[in-house]
Amino acid sequence: MSDEDGDGTRSVRAGLPEPVAYEPTLPGPVFAAHFHLPGEPTGPYTYGRDENPTWTHLERAIGELEDPGGAAHTVVFASGMAAISAVLLSQAKAGDAVVLPDDGYQALPLVREQLEAYGVEVRTAPTADEAQIVHLTGARLLWIESPSNPGLDVCDIRLLADAAHEAGALVAVDNTLATPLGQRPLDLGADFSVASGTKGLTGHGDLLLGYVTCRDAELAARVRRWRKVVGAIPGPMEAWLAHRSLATLQLRADRQGASALLLATALRGHPYVSGLRYPGLPEDPAHPVAARQMQRFGCVVSFTLPDREFAEKFLGALRLVDDATSFGGVRSTAERRGRWGGDAVPEGFIRLSVGAEDADDLLVDILRALEAAGGPLDGPVG
Ligand SMILES: *Cc1c(COP(=O)(O)O)cnc(C)c1O
Repeated sequence: MSDEDGDGTRSVRAGLPEPVAYEPTLPGPVFAAHFHLPGEPTGPYTYGRDENPTWTHLERAIGELEDPGGAAHTVVFASGMAAISAVLLSQAKAGDAVVLPDDGYQALPLVREQLEAYGVEVRTAPTADEAQIVHLTGARLLWIESPSNPGLDVCDIRLLADAAHEAGALVAVDNTLATPLGQRPLDLGADFSVASGTKGLTGHGDLLLGYVTCRDAELAARVRRWRKVVGAIPGPMEAWLAHRSLATLQLRADRQGASALLLATALRGHPYVSGLRYPGLPEDPAHPVAARQMQRFGCVVSFTLPDREFAEKFLGALRLVDDATSFGGVRSTAERRGRWGGDAVPEGFIRLSVGAEDADDLLVDILRALEAAGGPLDGPVG
């Protein structure tokens, strides 16, 4: 596909094979543990843990979105964590140092424990203000999560990647929250773009998936080898559903991003809401850097309600927003993030994932739930 095509065109056509008469546009999932294999095992498909044609189509599609017009390699995994572990555990060995964010995805501390158990030194710093930059000396790999989940801080990926390369370190960016239509880490200098496809990429809350995209064939081969060793492979059905879901990525990202901005704008200055964050809000501390390196700002808005009880009443009063974890789906979700215990957030901290419902309906529902939790307010809010 041409890199001059727009995001909608690329989303709709990503990874489609050349048309074949009387065949479907997107071939169906191939369910196979093994393939017919006469003679020497040199063909593309031999055994189902190594390769599968349904993955091949999806890997091309994701590659075309992460690296338009390029020739990047993508390796799909059973989940985002499988993809993250594949990069970290295939690249770092005993005696190496790795720099992680200390405000990233809640399973990163578990990864840290595992890395340390293997003799890897782990250094951490917050995402905001490129604070990781002072830990790069002698490091093997820098792990960036921008925007960070759930705090929505942003760092300058280009600046950090340049500093890391200067120090001889590889750079991986967790691109889950932004999706490849929101941000292209490889263009910003990263060696790996890694993401959970469970969230906004596929957007329907019905499958788990992960992927790693990189331009360097040797790095990709190590990640692919890791997948073969641990067997963290996606099922063909999940891979096919994911590919099917990519066709609407631009529609979903635009709609959900526009609604997120509308809701964040309306919640600004609301008497019950503090600490409101959305990288697309012009006055958000993350906005200047986000506006430079992101094409879309995502669908996650975070804010803090007065306390735990208030937050639980609010969540219970919502009609159109499910109290559920995860984010990026077409159905809005929200949760009190503190219930997991892993993130350094206040008890009343809410992560809201804005779905594809009508934004006006969501706004009415959210304002009503805030009043249900805190009591009626006089006069207009916004
Ligand atoms: C959800 C998430 C992951 C993990 O993905 P799974 O598909 O749940 O394994 C990693 N990073 C971020 C930023 C996430 O939000």
